[in-house]
Amino acid sequence: MSMDVESFRKAGYQAIDSICDFHYNLHNHNVFSAVEPGYLRKALPDHAPEHGEHFQDITEDYQKHIIPGLTIWQHPSFFAYFPTPGTLEATLGDLVASSISNPGFNWDSSPASTELEALVMDWSAKLFGLDKAFYNENNTGGGVIQTTASESALVMVVAARSRYTRTYPGTDLNKLVIYVTTQTHSLGVKAALILGLRVRVIDVHLKDGLSLRGCALQQAYEEDKEAGLHPFILIATVGTTSSGAIDNIPEIFTVARNFPSFWVHIDAAWAGVALSCPEHRDICHLDEINRFADSFCTNFHKWGLVNHDCSALWVRDRKCLIDALDITPEFLKTKEGEQGTVIDYRNWHLGLSRRFRSLKLWFVLRCYGAEGFREHIRKGIRLNDRFATLVGSSKELALVTAPSFSLSVFCVRAPEGVTVSQNELTLDLHTRLSARKDIAITKTYLNDILCIRFAVGAARTEEKHIDAAFELITSEARQLLASISSV
Ligand SMILES: *Cc1c(COP(=O)(O)O)cnc(C)c1O
Repeated sequence: MSMDVESFRKAGYQAIDSICDFHYNLHNHNVFSAVEPGYLRKALPDHAPEHGEHFQDITEDYQKHIIPGLTIWQHPSFFAYFPTPGTLEATLGDLVASSISNPGFNWDSSPASTELEALVMDWSAKLFGLDKAFYNENNTGGGVIQTTASESALVMVVAARSRYTRTYPGTDLNKLVIYVTTQTHSLGVKAALILGLRVRVIDVHLKDGLSLRGCALQQAYEEDKEAGLHPFILIATVGTTSSGAIDNIPEIFTVARNFPSFWVHIDAAWAGVALSCPEHRDICHLDEINRFADSFCTNFHKWGLVNHDCSALWVRDRKCLIDALDITPEFLKTKEGEQGTVIDYRNWHLGLSRRFRSLKLWFVLRCYGAEGFREHIRKGIRLNDRFATLVGSSKELALVTAPSFSLSVFCVRAPEGVTVSQNELTLDLHTRLSARKDIAITKTYLNDILCIRFAVGAARTEEKHIDAAFELITSEARQLLASISSV
């Protein structure tokens, strides 16, 4: 039963009401759902209905079957993975984008879609202090919204490969190598897998704060060149997924500037939005990034207030991207495109068509303002500092690395004289915590140390949630330690 506009008006108001109810009640839900695998298949029919159904029935089923199966990432006690503080402003941006439903792949397939994206990517570059080389308005570099940081990295590997093989025609493609470190997000290895390329995973050490040093890069490069290989890109990280480590970008560029046609992509998927605050620019090595990086990526859809998906990618030389990805069949040729007076974003990403993602980013940047955006980032960092200070003075827990922005990484402090290892204790604590549905945290390995990650940044998290989380973790740790010492 297709909906006419007046029925949409009515159903739309109801949908907004139910979204509001969900937000009001968020903290009454558990963070993690209690459903069992396969629960939904049991609850819903195994084929689409032959005859259209009433919309009202569908919304009732949404309430009844979908909401109970949600992990509530917006919950104030969500500290797992990374924060995704989606906003109501971005929700509305998505709603209008979806109502227009046009896949602006060329400028003339929807001029507003291309032009707004080019503009808000320049706004964002300015918000983060990126060099004007990366602005769309200067016509040599530019910014584009991708679906994910993984896709951003993949596209950059393709651009880097194309630049390298154009510089060195006849290069044996089997000898090309992507560089990542043991702390790089799996997106590097995945890009290699997708493209059928080699990848070298360079070791980093706790004594360096898990940061890639110039000498390690130099050594890997020399060994590979000696072996007849062609390293052509490094994916360096500002704010690694496991511990928020920052690669030594100044040393990396000192070394990499001497490698011919070598691309450096900066993956700052989670931490990059902290560049909106001038006080965090030095620690992120913004100066060096501005002077030398070939590309830079950060996700607005993580800590940056924009609902999934919205990954911001900037390149210094858009020509490298377009040369690698431009395929223009007759039906896509346009006067403006041929003249090069407009951006055709289809040449800047993997697919042809694209969503109108810039609308939600525009809504958020306008509603928050740069000041509101910065305040959101500073609040996440403040709250994490509070948590890290509590852990720092705890008898049961210890920080494994220095807190990074809004992320802390800790383990259980093994008491003297127990036979159980620290890793076993941390694993037991994690198991206890994940059995609870009222807090969400995740674990990771930093080299050989098993750690628990505590990632702050949900919009509704306040001091009281941090304190409650710390108390809950401490009380589980105490019970755990009491159980082993009584054995
Ligand atoms: C989360 C994260 C990614 C992956 O982001 P997607 O957008 O989901 O691909 C990559 N790199 C870092 C550093 C991350 O924190």
